Amino acid sequence: MVTSKKVLMLHTGGTLGMSGQRPEPLRPDTYTHRMLEHVPELSRLAALDVEILFNLDSSNVTPRHWDDIGRRIHQRHDDYDGFVVVHGTDTMAYTASACAFLLEGLRKPVVFTGSQRPLGQVRSDARSNLVGAVEMATQDIPEVTVFFDSKLLRGVRTVKSDVWGYAAFDSPNFPPLAEAGVDLLIRPDRVRRPAGPRRLAAGFSAPVACLEVTPGFAPALVEAAVDAGARGLVLRAFGSGNVPDQDGAVPPAIGRVVQRGVPVVLVTQAWRGGADLHLYECGQRALDAGAVDGGDLTTPAAVVKLAWLLTAGRDVEGVRAAFAQDLRGEGGMAARRPMKGATG
Ligand code: ASP
Repeated sequence: MVTSKKVLMLHTGGTLGMSGQRPEPLRPDTYTHRMLEHVPELSRLAALDVEILFNLDSSNVTPRHWDDIGRRIHQRHDDYDGFVVVHGTDTMAYTASACAFLLEGLRKPVVFTGSQRPLGQVRSDARSNLVGAVEMATQDIPEVTVFFDSKLLRGVRTVKSDVWGYAAFDSPNFPPLAEAGVDLLIRPDRVRRPAGPRRLAAGFSAPVACLEVTPGFAPALVEAAVDAGARGLVLRAFGSGNVPDQDGAVPPAIGRVVQRGVPVVLVTQAWRGGADLHLYECGQRALDAGAVDGGDLTTPAAVVKLAWLLTAGRDVEGVRAAFAQDLRGEGGMAARRPMKGATG
């Protein structure tokens, strides 16, 4: 096969390029320097350039690294037909979500991938993930996506769902954009098309904390997070966004931090579906106290969107208004209404 498509692969780290064998821990290595020696078939899919942006276990990737990846893709956008970002699986959903917010008006595919076993191991899933990601990066899918174990998922809808299996990612509230079976099955009806000019949006310097509500949750933790420096909070609430409200419990604590100008976004800790704060009294009380309804956003999408809005200077009401909108296909409250193109 001869291809004229050009793809830039940005390496950022993760298991794919690591070395080591149990019982020793895996550590970042430099496999990707010689990517084409290990997976020569990639050059049959695209003219590939490889850049090592950094080489980290993704547990050490920070919002500053999100900015670096976004900036690099923005700079090289017009030089390539598509981009592949090799990234650790642990925080890939966060980085992919961040890039979706950074890269406004994106016209090219940006495909994140990685692997559960290093490229150098016999039973590695790295090879098939790389082949699939490069192939997807040559298609007309101008979104930030995650390719893993044959599925192409919208990045801002993706969560890491499996530590052991090869299907490490899922998109519980939105179907795959494409699948690589015997043939590539692309669903153009699910693909978002860019609107407006291409630009690099502001980054993520505002600190955001995320707390999981558990039975008997201490409301003081909400204020403690703000006292420790959080400028925004994501609360992973029960079911449809419910929090303990007997004897006051959590809603008044939400009210106090909202009064201090700190937005509190409620998402669900359930696997599928989302918050709907009107459904139960204990959700409605949180809403009345000033909580923002995060709808069906994933936790990574909610954290990233909140940090992005705060960094752009939005106040509580500005954050509330933006969370009522589906800006990058992330869903949220807007997903409660039947969305054009959302179903197969
Ligand atoms: N700890 C690794 C990372 O996220 C896990 C992986 O890549 O699968 O970098």
